[in-house]
Amino acid sequence: MSVKMSSSTSRIVQKYGGSSVATPELILKVANRIIETSKIGIEVVAVVSAMGSTTNKLISLAKRICGRPPDRELDMLVSTGEQASCALLAMAIQSLGGKAVSFTGSQVGIITDAAHTKARILKVEGHGILEALEKGFIVIVAGFQGMTDAFEITTLGRGGSDITAVALAAALNADVCEKLTDEDGVHTADPRKIPEARRLDALSYEEMLELSSLGAKVLHPRAVECAMNHGVKLHVRSSFHNEEGTWIKEEEAYMEQSPVCGLTYDVSEAKVSVLELPDKPGVAAKIFSALAAAQINVDVIVLNNTRGTITDLSFTLPKNDLDKALPILRELSGKEGYGAVTANTNIAKVSIVGAGMRSHPGVAARMFEALARSEVNSNLISTSEIKVSCVISDKDLDRALPSIYKEFDLDSVPEKRRISKSMEAKMPS
Ligand code: ADP
Ligand code: ASP
Ligand code: MG
Repeated sequence: MSVKMSSSTSRIVQKYGGSSVATPELILKVANRIIETSKIGIEVVAVVSAMGSTTNKLISLAKRICGRPPDRELDMLVSTGEQASCALLAMAIQSLGGKAVSFTGSQVGIITDAAHTKARILKVEGHGILEALEKGFIVIVAGFQGMTDAFEITTLGRGGSDITAVALAAALNADVCEKLTDEDGVHTADPRKIPEARRLDALSYEEMLELSSLGAKVLHPRAVECAMNHGVKLHVRSSFHNEEGTWIKEEEAYMEQSPVCGLTYDVSEAKVSVLELPDKPGVAAKIFSALAAAQINVDVIVLNNTRGTITDLSFTLPKNDLDKALPILRELSGKEGYGAVTANTNIAKVSIVGAGMRSHPGVAARMFEALARSEVNSNLISTSEIKVSCVISDKDLDRALPSIYKEFDLDSVPEKRRISKSMEAKMPS
């Protein structure tokens, strides 16, 4: 990040997701909210997503033109979704009597690498933003997009506006980065699966990073990573009302009081097995090096069914990468004399996360008991210091989630996670 500056005025970066700006009426509501915040003397930079399902519609439009749209042109196309919503929001603010100016990602110097459709931000030059803020403008920035140093338009990957917001908050030294969304904060589970899931008052960066990486769509994992690396305080709250939401911040001692703070799931992975491998050193390395060379990330891994000198290897990888992975594995298997390569796309990964796992033994055992009680079988398991993940059949997901939720008493977590009032100091309520 190249713009780093301190300021005595408080400054906030707000991110509004697609559902919060889905219609002209909602855009006007957001405009009103931003004006209210700006009226109390806070400098506002707002990052917007494309309206509603615009990005999906643009992608399907491209697919009707050609089966596999070229990534560069796809970025040219989908980046227009955010360009439209940021201009509309600036117009809405102006129509309500506020001062606002909109910019695309390239205009404000969000410089990325050249990996079209999944670019990473290298630096934020911040052109024009500080000047506009100084002149009393509310600044609206199109999320999800940037530009290479060769002036090529790029996008950051689906859900990438969260990353834009955090990167801008870091670069502009904002007091807080607010994500305003259709839920009132981060819950102990996805409210769409467990309606009674409770809002958490606070989570540590590490907990949020695990939850996001393991499927909780509420924040993009790269946004959480960026916030953690730059010490940006994140506040996830509703775009429809002013109640306090969930703070993501440094870990504090009270966060360890309960072993688990959240339950999440991911249905975007497939399970792949390579059968009849020689049980000797170097075989797994060959398989995973071949996948890594093709930029395919492997997740949960298990070596199973050893029969003398023969074994089977199973792992998960993104369903989207299956078409690329299977030919590579089958070729390797043919060359090395391994057995069949099979794939199962009907799987789900369920995970529990919590900083308290470090000091509460037996968490994994309780997760397995909960699965067993709901008669769900799991044969791929992965753990870290603060998470346990199990791969199950996707048809069992709706039985597994409530059972795990109950086992860890996730209804009672929030009481133990009160936020310190000092964090609310300058924020509007
Ligand atoms: P936006 O468009 O504002 O970025 P998203 O749809 O990407 O919003 O993310 C918000 C959604 O994340 C919610 O509607 C909710 O279904 C989902 N979600 C998944 N896990 C959680 C969780 N633990 N807490 C809150 N929301 C969650
Ligand atoms: N509009 C983009 C998407 O739908 C980016 C975002 O909403 O964050 O993925
Ligand atoms: Mg999102």
